[in-house]
Amino acid sequence: MIDHNAKVLLIYTGGTIGMVENMETGALEPFNFSHLRANMPEIKRLNFLVDTHLFEPPIDSSDMSPAIWQQIGRVIEDNYDGYDGFVILHGTDTMAYTASALGLMLENLTKPVILTGSQLPVGKLRTDGKENLITALEIAADKDAAGFPVVPELCVYMQNLLMRGNRTTKVNADNFSAFTSPNYPFLAEAGLNIRYNEKFILTPDYSKPVRFNYAMDTHVVVLKLFPGISLEAVKANLNIPGLRGLILETYGTGNSPSLPRFIHLLREAIDRGVIMVNVTQCLYGSVEMHRYENGQQLEKIGVVSGWDITSEAALAKLMILLGSGEPPAEVNRLMQISLRGEMTVRG
Ligand code: ASP
Repeated sequence: MIDHNAKVLLIYTGGTIGMVENMETGALEPFNFSHLRANMPEIKRLNFLVDTHLFEPPIDSSDMSPAIWQQIGRVIEDNYDGYDGFVILHGTDTMAYTASALGLMLENLTKPVILTGSQLPVGKLRTDGKENLITALEIAADKDAAGFPVVPELCVYMQNLLMRGNRTTKVNADNFSAFTSPNYPFLAEAGLNIRYNEKFILTPDYSKPVRFNYAMDTHVVVLKLFPGISLEAVKANLNIPGLRGLILETYGTGNSPSLPRFIHLLREAIDRGVIMVNVTQCLYGSVEMHRYENGQQLEKIGVVSGWDITSEAALAKLMILLGSGEPPAEVNRLMQISLRGEMTVRG
């Protein structure tokens, strides 16, 4: 039920939704918010209040960075008490990373924070941006019969689907349905009505305050395995100055080559304190290192399981936990358990 007294803060960071075509080069470039507003008279017809906060200049999300995640977090923190919900307009290219980072940065969130964007600018006739934005705003203003927000979570809304943000990944460069949440059910589907999947939505503890954990350590890297990967390539990654964490993208249920010299390199790095997290290259399913000898070798040397977490969420979580100042053993432990519903731990 939309709360007509609701106030939603719309945060514009950039992305295709507000872009226009450069007449000389034909390339889409970020454009200011007045252009977006001019193409979205529908916002005025919503029967609740929408204020805006603009990032200047708006960016293509390929330029997104941990520093901007922190700025977005601060805008939400500064306005947290004054609004019922937040919608963030963001490019789709790195939206899953931002959703994962914010989803972990914001602890005990009690209000909806919804990221959305579009594949076609709002100035284009066939744009997907209008529906995405209007529905995201409506979800941000939606309350249950007791007056609590229906979705007090950090989400991504794209093409009729509301998803837990830290479960999303961009899977299509062309289609309007650009995102999926491979290992967690959708939180809602929008058709004639918005059908919420209540039992999969987090319930916060409303007696506790929300917390914003801004600290991040970016001394991390993602290493994707492939048949034929050279020991030099592995070494080069492990020898990155100051490296503290590595997301190892493995095969299937968490398997890697068994070559002793490869395993030895990984073990050396773990022994000197690098946190190594096993994430599968498969879109669906989970790491289960005990299944094969090749996976067991990784488990034995201290690689920790990321279960069914996405690479995007694993990376953001590692940056945040390493930034938190927790000792390595605690970072290792926390990487293997779900903090905000970002993974399903297998018993
Ligand atoms: N390159 C754009 C961006 O991520 C693509 C988009 O918004 O869909 O900002």
